[in-house]
Amino acid sequence: MEFNIALVKGDGIGPEIVDSAVRVLEKVGEKFGHKFNFTPYLAGGAAIDEYGIPLPEETITGCKNSDSVLLGAVGGPKWDTLPGEIRPEKALLGLRAALGLFTNLRPAKIYPALKGACTLRPDIVENGFDLVIVRELTGGIYFGERGRREGIYGEEAYDTEAYSVMEVERIAHVAYKTAQKRRGNVVSIDKANVLESSRLWREIVHKVGEQYPGVTCTDMLVDNAAMQLVRDPSRFDVIVTSNMFGDILSDEASQITGSIGLLASASLGDGKCGLYEPIHGSAPDIAGQNKANPIATILSAAMMLRYSFELGAEADAIENAVNKVLEDGLRTADILVGDDKALTCTEMTDEIISRL
Ligand code: NAD
Repeated sequence: MEFNIALVKGDGIGPEIVDSAVRVLEKVGEKFGHKFNFTPYLAGGAAIDEYGIPLPEETITGCKNSDSVLLGAVGGPKWDTLPGEIRPEKALLGLRAALGLFTNLRPAKIYPALKGACTLRPDIVENGFDLVIVRELTGGIYFGERGRREGIYGEEAYDTEAYSVMEVERIAHVAYKTAQKRRGNVVSIDKANVLESSRLWREIVHKVGEQYPGVTCTDMLVDNAAMQLVRDPSRFDVIVTSNMFGDILSDEASQITGSIGLLASASLGDGKCGLYEPIHGSAPDIAGQNKANPIATILSAAMMLRYSFELGAEADAIENAVNKVLEDGLRTADILVGDDKALTCTEMTDEIISRL
């Protein structure tokens, strides 16, 4: 098969880690008989330097016309003092909106070889965990009505959480379908004891669930969920939640794996075209030094194969190669323990490719 992939390398370590993922995809293409065509586009600081804006029209059109987008990371101290509208991070929101991406999928799992990096107690880590957070990405309080007004205590500010039936239905479908490909268990997280929007959320999630008899769905209040994630993360398979709760809980879930350089994410819409990116930023402190861990971006490319291209076996091959590298004790500097030698970004990529 043949696929067109837009590459948005971005800033800082972005170009290094995206180049690594491209090399892995090329090897997968060679092994499984697929052709991946890569076209680079500018976004973030790199686009500001070239065009004066973070997300040029050419990038939007190029990404829309591709089968999927692989993104490194954007931002860095060079652009930190620019006004909000032309900050590099604006490119991410703009791309998600332009591509109609309303779901963010973030897997968080503990690799047996990296149990030592986990920040939880050893008896909790012993059970392992492997969960996915399905976060609604384009609704809720981040996009609701907001403003300042005169209240009874003087000036006040307000933000509004609102969800439509349609928005909850479509994210619920994603969660159930994700669970069908995994262990068949959804936990829907809300604050239905207080919020009306959560009560609608709960009602609709269960209604949609009737179409997925093989998947179980339970509800959990967000405060309890925040506790359960550090108490016993092994109880979760698929978590579905709103934009703001998902934002907070997905960072908590990544943190407990202990290794930001390993975590991938996918943003998906109605079509097959998704945006795939590591969850970490552009790491300006190590940019250009060949020290970055490329694994999160390589695993993001694996997610692209699985979710946008329906190439499950090829995605498995990448994930197995990453597992083997870690089991063999190979580490980049960010996940190094003790006095072992750290691999460079290029060396880690070579090792993964040799295990494909
Ligand atoms: P960061 O994730 O870039 O870095 C945090 C720490 O983790 C740093 O010490 C960094 O060296 C390390 N790190 C991150 N990724 C790594 C990797 N692959 N391998 C090895 N070490 C890694 O977060 P930050 O320092 O808060 O942000 C830096 C810049 O990135 C900022 O401009 C921020 O706005 C931007 N950012 C972008 C995105 C994105 O593009 N999606 C996400 C978060 C932050």
